[in-house]
Amino acid sequence: MSGAPYPWQAAQWARLVELWRRDRLPHAVLLHGPPGLGLDDFARRFANALVCPATRDDGTPCGQCPACRQFAEGVYPDYHEVTPPADRQGIGVDQIRALIDFLALTRSHGRPRPVLITPAEAMNVNAANSLLKTLEEPPGDALLLLVCARLDRLPATILSRCQRVDFPRPPRQTALDWLAGQGLSGETAAGLLALAHGAPCAALRLAEGEVPARHAAFLDAVLAVLAGQGSAGTLRAALAELDTAQLLDWSEALLRDLLRLRSGLDGPFETPVAAGRLRKLAAPLDLMRLFEFQDQLLVSRATLEHPLNADLQRDVILLGWEALSCHNRRKPSHPHRVTAAP
Ligand SMILES: [Zn+2]
Repeated sequence: MSGAPYPWQAAQWARLVELWRRDRLPHAVLLHGPPGLGLDDFARRFANALVCPATRDDGTPCGQCPACRQFAEGVYPDYHEVTPPADRQGIGVDQIRALIDFLALTRSHGRPRPVLITPAEAMNVNAANSLLKTLEEPPGDALLLLVCARLDRLPATILSRCQRVDFPRPPRQTALDWLAGQGLSGETAAGLLALAHGAPCAALRLAEGEVPARHAAFLDAVLAVLAGQGSAGTLRAALAELDTAQLLDWSEALLRDLLRLRSGLDGPFETPVAAGRLRKLAAPLDLMRLFEFQDQLLVSRATLEHPLNADLQRDVILLGWEALSCHNRRKPSHPHRVTAAP
């Protein structure tokens, strides 16, 4: 048994507990992995373990002592969390200053003082700069836990001062077993896991939200266009609620499936739709056009980082789906127009 919150984190948990037991824990640990693997939960559990006077051998906090109870209620006084505020994007310098003040003022009675910054890449430049000094010379009992999904968005100066612990996506079966334990199984679980790019916690969150219904609407609309029963205009109307990043994500996944099929390969598919339906739709599609559309989506992804481009890229994607439909291409532009001679 592991003290980690999730089964796919056992190795990373054991490694940190081992360092802690040998008094070798660094002052800053960067927990790195794709979103939806439960890294925040991992960091909080580890922080809790550090302050519990009765942790078990595997590092599990006892759950009974005053510190554990305060931790569970979110009122433990010697722990501090920094996350982006709801009303603005990113973590600001004022939040890092408050963190530094916290580390300067609190007394920890000889126990480590954990702090969590998540997601660390949300720190703006000033925030990251003001954290540097603390990372260079942390107060003796501080442990800075940083959670990060995108290393390329973290300044190298921060990265180089942290010990990195990587969390890969779990094997598919591990994820499915865990989801089954949460009451999600069969095709539903497999579909949600695919939608969440293999991240089990993200898959579970999807099950609780509106995303599956939106994804079904996306598939219905796009598959209708491919079958010649719609246009970029009908797509735009059907997908008005969908943000461009999500549209791009799902478009890429569906396109990869279509390319697999047109290249003579078969499943497993990323799109949770009956394979027979996918095969039927893929059969008449032009392979070169599929590749062209894939290139286009790569450009969209590169351009999307800038919010002003979102609307433009949205149109590119919708028109791309329309252009794929053989029915649209075969049809003359005005089939019923009869020009009367003057
Ligand atoms: Zn405890």
